[in-house]
Amino acid sequence: MAQLKSHIFSWPYGLLVALCVTIVGLGWYREIDIRNSDVHAAEVEATNLARSLVSQAEDSVELVDNALIGIVHWLENFGDRPRAVEHLKTLLNLRKATLPRLRGLFVYAADGEWVATSETDNVTGHNNSDRDYFQHHQATANRLPFIGSPVRSRSGGQWIITISRRLNGPHGEFAGVVLASIDVSYFVETYSQFKLGNEGSLALLRSDGTLLARSPVDEQAIGRNFTASPFYRHVTSDMSGVIHFQSVLDGVTRISAYQRSQKLPLLMLVARGHDEVLAPWRLEATWRMSMVVGLTLIIGLLGALMLRELAARQRLLATVSSREAEFRLLAEASNDMVTRIAFDGTLTYVSPASLRVLGWPPESLLGGHALAGVDVEDRAAVEAVVAELKRGDRTEALLAYRTRHRCTGTVWLESSLSVTHDPNTGRVDGVVAISRDVTEQKQLEGHLSRLATLDGLTGLANRRFLDDRAERELLLARQSRRDLSLLLLDADHFKAFNDTYGHLAGDHCLQQIAAVIQSHATRPGDLAARYGGEEFALLLADTSRDGALVVAERIRAAVADLQIPHAGNSSTAVVTVSIGIATANSIAGWPTLKSLIGQADEALYRAKTGGRNRVYAALLDECAPALQLT
Ligand code: GH3
Ligand code: MG
Ligand code: MG
Repeated sequence: MAQLKSHIFSWPYGLLVALCVTIVGLGWYREIDIRNSDVHAAEVEATNLARSLVSQAEDSVELVDNALIGIVHWLENFGDRPRAVEHLKTLLNLRKATLPRLRGLFVYAADGEWVATSETDNVTGHNNSDRDYFQHHQATANRLPFIGSPVRSRSGGQWIITISRRLNGPHGEFAGVVLASIDVSYFVETYSQFKLGNEGSLALLRSDGTLLARSPVDEQAIGRNFTASPFYRHVTSDMSGVIHFQSVLDGVTRISAYQRSQKLPLLMLVARGHDEVLAPWRLEATWRMSMVVGLTLIIGLLGALMLRELAARQRLLATVSSREAEFRLLAEASNDMVTRIAFDGTLTYVSPASLRVLGWPPESLLGGHALAGVDVEDRAAVEAVVAELKRGDRTEALLAYRTRHRCTGTVWLESSLSVTHDPNTGRVDGVVAISRDVTEQKQLEGHLSRLATLDGLTGLANRRFLDDRAERELLLARQSRRDLSLLLLDADHFKAFNDTYGHLAGDHCLQQIAAVIQSHATRPGDLAARYGGEEFALLLADTSRDGALVVAERIRAAVADLQIPHAGNSSTAVVTVSIGIATANSIAGWPTLKSLIGQADEALYRAKTGGRNRVYAALLDECAPALQLT
């Protein structure tokens, strides 16, 4: 965990995180920029729409007002009122016919009674002196048009907006009101043609904050004064402006543009739902940001993996170089020769001990083949072990082999081999060999081995060695169905020889007899051995009974021919030997070694009892004299 933390907080990881955060940050910054542009575009669009709709409202009111001006002028200047009233209805209907947006035209007397109307209803009995426009004109002497609060028509019941003018008497006194009404629905229909979404709205207000018309229609809101509403508090005395506000009617936040009329006390308000304006952006931004975040995560993940890999490689390199340094330190301080061998057998490192071990400085050996100096006899065995190491069958091996020393000729080396692996692939890429000169040890071993198998006095093989070899030869003979003969030889009257000439002379005599026997062991399978005391044995591989008799006889004769004086050997007065022979073959039924020796011993006994200085060969179970020489 601590290691993980140290990774995360190490500077490359920090840089990676910073990079990812920057990419996401830039993406987000761009999205906010696009969002602001969208909001700004919506504001501009709303402002332009408000401007054109306020001018449409001005035109509508002015057209109606023009009709009012005409009627006022006609009534004040030409109208004999009582008579004029009779024609007024015709005049009003004419006007109404040319202005379809007109709901109706009305003339009221100074007391509020209806004088004339374009409506077809009977107007008698209606009094409108309570209406705000009537009270306004009654109280105000100016001749400007007055836009009244929306009211429900007393004639039709629908919402209407009134535009009225004061009618003066001959002396400027209040003489009544001329009024035109426009259906609120006229504006609503116009406004409903604009697509402003579900949360968008268009509203025409009077400058005092009274709502005249709204699309979509909101019956509750028409005629209501919004001066106290949170929205209206943001409407400044400027001609136009943009407000972001939350509606008290439906709780929706809107982007609103308002535009005041320069000529009339009117204010147009265009509102778009904030969320609706931003909905396309939100959708696209979500998609784009998902892409950015997704790609950034991929970049971050790949980056982190690369950094981890890099860190692992660096750690590996550090470990390898520290191990390399340790290896060299140990190798160069060692008395043993340390070599590193590449997979193809080339020496890639040789420690300074090579000068002592092989007589060559390391630089002379570097690049050469590791097995170059190996003795021909050992080469195959060494190559076999190397092949096993290369294949990965084993990872270590201990080898003793002969190789060339620059000065002293052939030396024995003992090499401990260990395979090395490529740190990247884990495959075997070579071998490290630690070699030491074991020539002296080998010589000592050879000497000891000889001592263990030879008889000290005569130099012939000892009894144990004879037994081992005889067992092996017997097995081979049986397998190859070849005869094997064993000769047992015993010096005649040797006790007497010792007694006469002394034990040292006896020893010397035994050495001479041994030399004779050895000289007759001429073939590789023959083995001359001291069987014990003054008894000897000669193993003759691939030799029949007859062949053995010939060899035995030659030995017997050769010993006698030595002419070693032996007074105690009364018949010859020289040293002689008696020889017993046993032959193993398929005819004899392949005896055991013990049985073969027993047969030879028996034959020897027969030779002794037969007069000594003679040869007897056993024949099957019998021991028959074959040759008898005296
Ligand atoms: P034969 O075999 O002819 O019956 O008579 P022998 O005198 O040789 O009889 P035996 O086998 O009983 O005597 C063997 C003698 O050989 C006894 C011992 O003095 C002598 N001998 C045995 N080993 C050695 C030896 O290593 N050196 C010497 N000098 N004499 C030995
Ligand atoms: Mg004996
Ligand atoms: Mg003897």
